[in-house]
Amino acid sequence: MNNMEIPEAYAKAEQIAKEAGFKLMAFADAATIELRQEVRDMCAANTCGKYGSNWACPPGCGDLDECRAKVAPYKWGIIVQTTGQMEDSFDFETVAEIAQEHDENFLKILEPMREAFPGMLALGAGTCNICAKCSYPDKPCRFPDKRVSSVEAYGMVVNEFAVKNGLKYNYGPNTMTYTSCCLLG
Ligand code: SF4
Repeated sequence: MNNMEIPEAYAKAEQIAKEAGFKLMAFADAATIELRQEVRDMCAANTCGKYGSNWACPPGCGDLDECRAKVAPYKWGIIVQTTGQMEDSFDFETVAEIAQEHDENFLKILEPMREAFPGMLALGAGTCNICAKCSYPDKPCRFPDKRVSSVEAYGMVVNEFAVKNGLKYNYGPNTMTYTSCCLLG
Protein backbone atom coordinates (compact mmCIF):
# COMPACT_ATOMS: atom_id res chain seq x y z
CA MET A 1 0.00 0.00 0.00
CA ASN A 2 0.90 3.64 -0.32
CA ASN A 3 2.59 4.69 2.92
CA MET A 4 4.63 7.55 1.56
CA GLU A 5 4.34 11.04 2.99
CA ILE A 6 2.84 13.30 0.33
CA PRO A 7 5.35 15.93 -0.81
CA GLU A 8 4.23 19.57 -0.91
CA ALA A 9 4.77 19.68 -4.67
CA TYR A 10 1.90 17.22 -5.15
CA ALA A 11 -0.58 20.04 -4.60
CA LYS A 12 0.60 21.63 -7.85
CA ALA A 13 0.08 18.37 -9.75
CA GLU A 14 -3.43 18.04 -8.33
CA GLN A 15 -4.23 21.62 -9.29
CA ILE A 16 -3.10 21.00 -12.89
CA ALA A 17 -5.18 17.83 -13.11
CA LYS A 18 -8.28 19.56 -11.73
CA GLU A 19 -7.90 22.52 -14.07
CA ALA A 20 -7.75 20.10 -17.01
CA GLY A 21 -11.08 18.62 -15.97
CA PHE A 22 -10.12 15.48 -14.04
CA LYS A 23 -12.38 14.66 -11.09
CA LEU A 24 -10.68 11.47 -9.95
CA MET A 25 -7.03 11.55 -8.93
CA ALA A 26 -4.67 10.29 -6.28
CA PHE A 27 -1.14 10.68 -5.05
CA ALA A 28 0.90 7.74 -6.35
CA ASP A 29 3.70 6.10 -4.43
CA ALA A 30 5.99 4.80 -7.19
CA ALA A 31 6.96 1.88 -4.94
CA THR A 32 3.49 0.46 -5.65
CA ILE A 33 4.21 0.18 -9.38
CA GLU A 34 4.64 -3.31 -10.74
CA LEU A 35 5.70 -3.89 -14.32
CA ARG A 36 5.02 -7.42 -15.48
CA GLN A 37 5.81 -9.47 -18.52
CA GLU A 38 2.23 -10.86 -18.64
CA VAL A 39 0.90 -7.38 -19.41
CA ARG A 40 3.46 -6.95 -22.16
CA ASP A 41 2.47 -10.34 -23.53
CA MET A 42 -1.11 -9.05 -23.83
CA CYS A 43 0.26 -6.20 -25.96
CA ALA A 44 1.99 -8.77 -28.15
CA ALA A 45 -1.39 -10.42 -28.77
CA ASN A 46 -2.12 -7.13 -30.60
CA THR A 47 -5.85 -6.90 -29.92
CA CYS A 48 -5.55 -3.10 -30.22
CA GLY A 49 -3.66 -3.34 -33.53
CA LYS A 50 -0.86 -1.02 -32.36
CA TYR A 51 1.80 -3.58 -31.44
CA GLY A 52 4.91 -3.03 -33.53
CA SER A 53 3.50 0.05 -35.22
CA ASN A 54 4.42 2.94 -32.90
CA TRP A 55 7.52 4.06 -30.99
CA ALA A 56 5.40 4.36 -27.85
CA CYS A 57 4.25 0.72 -27.95
CA PRO A 58 6.13 -2.56 -27.57
CA PRO A 59 8.58 -3.42 -28.90
CA GLY A 60 9.46 0.18 -29.93
CA CYS A 61 9.18 1.58 -26.40
CA GLY A 62 11.90 -0.78 -25.15
CA ASP A 63 11.82 -4.14 -23.44
CA LEU A 64 10.57 -4.66 -19.91
CA ASP A 65 13.99 -4.05 -18.35
CA GLU A 66 14.31 -0.76 -20.22
CA CYS A 67 10.85 0.32 -19.07
CA ARG A 68 11.72 -0.65 -15.50
CA ALA A 69 14.91 1.42 -15.75
CA LYS A 70 12.89 4.45 -16.92
CA VAL A 71 10.42 4.14 -14.05
CA ALA A 72 13.04 3.35 -11.38
CA PRO A 73 14.24 6.93 -10.66
CA TYR A 74 10.77 8.12 -9.63
CA LYS A 75 9.45 8.10 -6.10
CA TRP A 76 6.00 9.58 -6.63
CA GLY A 77 3.46 10.92 -9.08
CA ILE A 78 -0.22 11.41 -9.72
CA ILE A 79 -2.84 8.99 -11.04
CA VAL A 80 -5.77 10.44 -12.97
CA GLN A 81 -8.94 8.63 -13.92
CA THR A 82 -12.07 9.20 -15.97
CA THR A 83 -15.08 7.01 -15.35
CA GLY A 84 -18.56 6.91 -16.83
CA GLN A 85 -21.79 4.97 -16.82
CA MET A 86 -22.76 2.89 -19.83
CA GLU A 87 -26.37 1.91 -20.59
CA ASP A 88 -25.23 -1.71 -20.91
CA SER A 89 -22.07 -3.63 -21.72
CA PHE A 90 -22.60 -3.02 -25.47
CA ASP A 91 -22.78 0.75 -25.10
CA PHE A 92 -19.64 1.34 -27.17
CA GLU A 93 -20.66 4.91 -27.97
CA THR A 94 -20.39 5.90 -24.31
CA VAL A 95 -17.11 3.99 -23.97
CA ALA A 96 -15.71 6.01 -26.86
CA GLU A 97 -16.92 9.27 -25.25
CA ILE A 98 -15.29 8.40 -21.92
CA ALA A 99 -12.04 7.50 -23.69
CA GLN A 100 -12.12 10.76 -25.63
CA GLU A 101 -12.75 12.84 -22.51
CA HIS A 102 -9.88 11.07 -20.75
CA ASP A 103 -7.46 11.54 -23.67
CA GLU A 104 -8.37 15.20 -24.11
CA ASN A 105 -7.93 15.98 -20.42
CA PHE A 106 -4.67 14.01 -20.28
CA LEU A 107 -3.36 15.91 -23.29
CA LYS A 108 -4.18 19.17 -21.48
CA ILE A 109 -2.10 18.30 -18.42
CA LEU A 110 1.07 17.26 -20.26
CA GLU A 111 2.53 20.68 -20.97
CA PRO A 112 1.84 22.30 -17.58
CA MET A 113 3.07 19.15 -15.81
CA ARG A 114 6.29 19.19 -17.86
CA GLU A 115 6.77 22.84 -17.00
CA ALA A 116 6.21 22.26 -13.28
CA PHE A 117 8.02 18.92 -13.16
CA PRO A 118 10.83 18.80 -15.76
CA GLY A 119 11.75 15.19 -16.41
CA MET A 120 8.21 13.93 -15.88
CA LEU A 121 7.35 10.50 -17.24
CA ALA A 122 3.74 10.36 -18.42
CA LEU A 123 1.99 7.07 -19.11
CA GLY A 124 -1.39 7.34 -20.80
CA ALA A 125 -4.35 5.17 -21.63
CA GLY A 126 -3.55 4.57 -25.29
CA THR A 127 -0.86 4.76 -27.89
CA CYS A 128 0.93 7.94 -28.95
CA ASN A 129 -1.02 9.76 -31.65
CA ILE A 130 0.92 13.01 -31.92
CA CYS A 131 1.71 12.31 -35.59
CA ALA A 132 -0.91 11.36 -38.15
CA LYS A 133 1.38 8.43 -39.03
CA CYS A 134 4.06 7.22 -36.67
CA SER A 135 7.56 7.01 -38.15
CA TYR A 136 8.07 3.53 -36.63
CA PRO A 137 10.16 1.62 -37.59
CA ASP A 138 11.80 3.33 -40.56
CA LYS A 139 12.78 6.65 -38.96
CA PRO A 140 13.40 7.79 -35.38
CA CYS A 141 10.51 9.17 -33.34
CA ARG A 142 9.84 12.79 -34.35
CA PHE A 143 9.06 13.95 -30.81
CA PRO A 144 10.89 11.67 -28.34
CA ASP A 145 10.46 14.22 -25.52
CA LYS A 146 6.73 14.46 -26.05
CA ARG A 147 5.64 10.95 -26.94
CA VAL A 148 3.59 9.15 -24.33
CA SER A 149 3.45 5.39 -23.93
CA SER A 150 0.50 3.67 -22.34
CA VAL A 151 0.56 2.21 -18.85
CA GLU A 152 0.10 -1.22 -20.44
CA ALA A 153 2.97 -0.70 -22.89
CA TYR A 154 5.24 -0.42 -19.85
CA GLY A 155 3.76 -3.61 -18.38
CA MET A 156 1.92 -1.84 -15.58
CA VAL A 157 -0.82 -3.71 -13.72
CA VAL A 158 -2.90 -0.56 -13.69
CA ASN A 159 -5.87 -1.81 -11.65
CA GLU A 160 -3.58 -2.83 -8.78
CA PHE A 161 -1.68 0.45 -9.06
CA ALA A 162 -4.93 2.45 -8.77
CA VAL A 163 -6.27 0.45 -5.83
CA LYS A 164 -2.97 0.49 -3.90
CA ASN A 165 -3.09 4.27 -4.08
CA GLY A 166 -6.63 4.66 -2.83
CA LEU A 167 -8.61 4.76 -6.09
CA LYS A 168 -11.08 2.23 -7.40
CA TYR A 169 -10.60 0.42 -10.64
CA ASN A 170 -14.25 -0.60 -10.95
CA TYR A 171 -16.84 2.06 -10.13
CA GLY A 172 -19.82 -0.26 -10.38
CA PRO A 173 -21.84 -2.30 -12.89
CA ASN A 174 -21.60 -1.10 -16.49
CA THR A 175 -19.02 1.56 -15.74
CA MET A 176 -15.90 2.10 -17.80
CA THR A 177 -12.80 3.70 -16.33
CA TYR A 178 -9.60 4.93 -17.95
CA THR A 179 -6.46 5.40 -15.87
CA SER A 180 -3.23 7.28 -16.62
CA CYS A 181 -0.39 8.61 -14.54
CA CYS A 182 2.42 11.11 -14.45
CA LEU A 183 5.57 10.20 -12.51
CA LEU A 184 6.88 13.47 -11.22
CA GLY A 185 9.51 13.29 -8.53
S1 SF4 B 1 5.67 11.32 -31.59
FE1 SF4 B 1 5.10 10.64 -33.64
S2 SF4 B 1 6.84 9.36 -34.28
FE2 SF4 B 1 6.98 9.55 -32.03
S3 SF4 B 1 5.84 7.79 -31.19
FE3 SF4 B 1 4.38 9.49 -31.34
S4 SF4 B 1 3.37 9.18 -33.33
FE4 SF4 B 1 5.30 7.99 -33.36
